Amino acid sequence: MNTDAHERARKLIALAGPETLSAADRPSDQRSSNAWLAAHLETCASCRAFAENAAQTIHGLRAIPIAAERSLVSTTQIRVRRRALELRRNRERLRLVSVSCTAVTLCALLSTVVLWRGFEWLGERAQLASSVWQVGFLVFCVMPALVAAILLLAKDRHLADHTGSYRG
Ligand SMILES: [Zn+2]
Repeated sequence: MNTDAHERARKLIALAGPETLSAADRPSDQRSSNAWLAAHLETCASCRAFAENAAQTIHGLRAIPIAAERSLVSTTQIRVRRRALELRRNRERLRLVSVSCTAVTLCALLSTVVLWRGFEWLGERAQLASSVWQVGFLVFCVMPALVAAILLLAKDRHLADHTGSYRG
């Protein structure tokens, strides 16, 4: 057997189309080539080994996309589930924030009303003009914010001086 025959056989194996295609659908020259190849493979062990090797390689290559798809599907499912959980947590957090905001607003309103009534009562008891206890009420309401602002400013100044001294 000459080397041309082996070469032709291996070329035919390498170029072989899908096996699912039935023999009748193939072009006649290909059919005759297949017949020749089958005859050659029956007599040549080395080309038979090559054909088996090629078939195994093709089988292995076909298995890879399936494995990749499966892992892709599972990771996508995990990601989707995680995102859904995240969204639900965010919604719950948002609801908690809105509930506490409402509670804080109601508390502030209630305490303002109570404070107003308290100042009114005190003003009447002390026989003060309504404008006086009203100013007192305003000062009392604004005072915490004012004190906090002053403290924050003082802290900023302190920090600025401190970092300035470090730099200098
Ligand atoms: Zn051969």
